[in-house]
Amino acid sequence: MKQGDIKRIFNPAQIAETVERLARQINRDYKGREVILVGCLTGAFVFMADLMRNLQIEATCDFIRVSSYEDRMTAGEISLESDLARPVGGGNVIVVEDIVDTGQTMKFIMNHLREKGAASIEVCSLLYKESDRSTLPKEDIRYLGLVVPDVFVVGYGIDYAQKFRTLNYIGSIEPS
Ligand code: 5GP
Ligand code: MG
Repeated sequence: MKQGDIKRIFNPAQIAETVERLARQINRDYKGREVILVGCLTGAFVFMADLMRNLQIEATCDFIRVSSYEDRMTAGEISLESDLARPVGGGNVIVVEDIVDTGQTMKFIMNHLREKGAASIEVCSLLYKESDRSTLPKEDIRYLGLVVPDVFVVGYGIDYAQKFRTLNYIGSIEPS
């Protein structure tokens, strides 16, 4: 799999525009409040870095890692690989994710944050994959960037076998 095999979906300008829009919504909704951004490793770190630089509200950040795609066959096998570094009890959390597909990962993370006593939990996902496997409707994602068809996406932090995270655009590949 090489870079030439990637079909472009979103260029850097489209991504930047989307990130700015999401940040504007968050700035408006959380005005005067403090927010804890919880980034989902590893894919969301590029998005989160750009998003937080567009925030004017007070925000802290933390990260969480759950078992990834390649490491599991079904949603039931999702497990926590690395937990938050600090407590979120009573805090307003925004989970920052690269892409929601079936929604199982996001549901797992939200459940985990609920158990930790977060006062509020919203989701900010750069991408949403439309498929009949979905268990998390688009409407449940308060801050949603762009919708993609049922393809495998890479770039802008999102990998295929750890590759292509460095691309400044988002594209699709056909995994071999
Ligand atoms: P879900 O649990 O929603 O089915 O899967 C979400 C997880 O799988 C996310 O954490 C996301 O990073 C990863 N994922 C979903 N679709 C893709 C994709 O097209 N490409 C890559 N690289 N990861 C994906
Ligand atoms: Mg992920």
